[in-house]
Amino acid sequence: MKWVRFRTCRTLPEAHLVNTELMRAGIPTEVRGESRLPLAGEIPFVDARVEVWVTEEHVLSAAALLAEVEAACAGPARTCPHCREENPPAFELCWQCGRDL
Ligand SMILES: [Zn+2]
Repeated sequence: MKWVRFRTCRTLPEAHLVNTELMRAGIPTEVRGESRLPLAGEIPFVDARVEVWVTEEHVLSAAALLAEVEAACAGPARTCPHCREENPPAFELCWQCGRDL
C-alpha cells in the first residue's frame, strides 16, 4: 500500500478534523508530524506542520470528501441529533451534551 501526503495543516486540531472525517468515510488515513509540533518556533515553520496522509488509491475520494467538509465548515450551524442544541459547523462533538454530531 502506497501512502501519499494529502494535506498539510498548520494546527493539530485542523489535521485531526480532516483525519476524523476521512476515517468516518472508511478512508485509511494517518496524521504525521505531530511530534514536531512542540518545536514550532524553534525549527523552520514549514517543518512544524502536521501532515495528513492517505493511501494512493483513496486520494481522489479523500479530495472529494474534503471539499464537502470544507463546504460544511462554511455552512450553517449543525443541530445536535441528541439534544437539539446548535453547534458551529466545524464541531464534531456537541458542546452541550458532548455526543457525536
Ligand atoms: Zn447535544
